[in-house]
Amino acid sequence: MKIERKNQIEAAVKKFISDFNLEKGFNIRKLVKNLGFDIAEGNYSDLSGALIIDEDKKLIVLNQTDSSERKRFTIGHEVGHLILHEDMNLSLRKNESIYFRSSNNPGLEKEYEANYFAACLLMNREWLFESLNDQISINEGTISKLAREYEVSEQAMAIRLSSLGFV
Ligand SMILES: [Zn+2]
Repeated sequence: MKIERKNQIEAAVKKFISDFNLEKGFNIRKLVKNLGFDIAEGNYSDLSGALIIDEDKKLIVLNQTDSSERKRFTIGHEVGHLILHEDMNLSLRKNESIYFRSSNNPGLEKEYEANYFAACLLMNREWLFESLNDQISINEGTISKLAREYEVSEQAMAIRLSSLGFV
């Protein structure tokens, strides 16, 4: 993803966080309810999440077998589609890795953007700078502590810290 696009997404997240008054550790299920969505969970072999919008139904579908951290990331991902990809009515994530995929395929590019949105939303830049205020060195202990605090996987936290230049 180009740096300009990343900056656009960071800016969209910043506005979103301010519009909805979100703070670190916010309740993401309550947030999507406020956005008018219900959450449904099912047992799927090849699906982590879906965003379904039709005339009488707005729904985020999760895989009930996923960890709570992964579900949280998936919800952030689907909200990302909602905010970034208004033209997209239906999004299915089949066999999808939630981590950064690079591809020239425009469909996959949207997946990458939605993942980036989720990372920016759940591990917001300002919150992390605050958390790491007087931290001199970041080790694995710091990463797992932050991952618990932000309710994300350690892998997601490590990627985010690295993309912000902390590690
Ligand atoms: Zn997606």
